[in-house]
Amino acid sequence: MSEQGCPECGAADFIRIDLTLADDTEVTFCSCHRCENRWWDKGGKALPLDAVLKLARKSK
Ligand SMILES: [Zn+2]
Repeated sequence: MSEQGCPECGAADFIRIDLTLADDTEVTFCSCHRCENRWWDKGGKALPLDAVLKLARKSK
C-alpha cells in the first residue's frame, strides 16, 4: 500500500503546501481537515514538526 494519508487518522483529504527550507531541503507541509493534525512530508516520509524545525535551525 502506497496510499498516503494523515498519519493520525488516515484521512486522504488534507492540505499540502510545498516549501523549500533555507538549506534547499524540499518539504511539504500537510494539515489534516479531520483531526487537525499537522506534519511535514519529506520525500514521501512523514516528519514531525520538530524534525523540520531542527533542519531549519541547522542551516544557520
Ligand atoms: Zn487526520
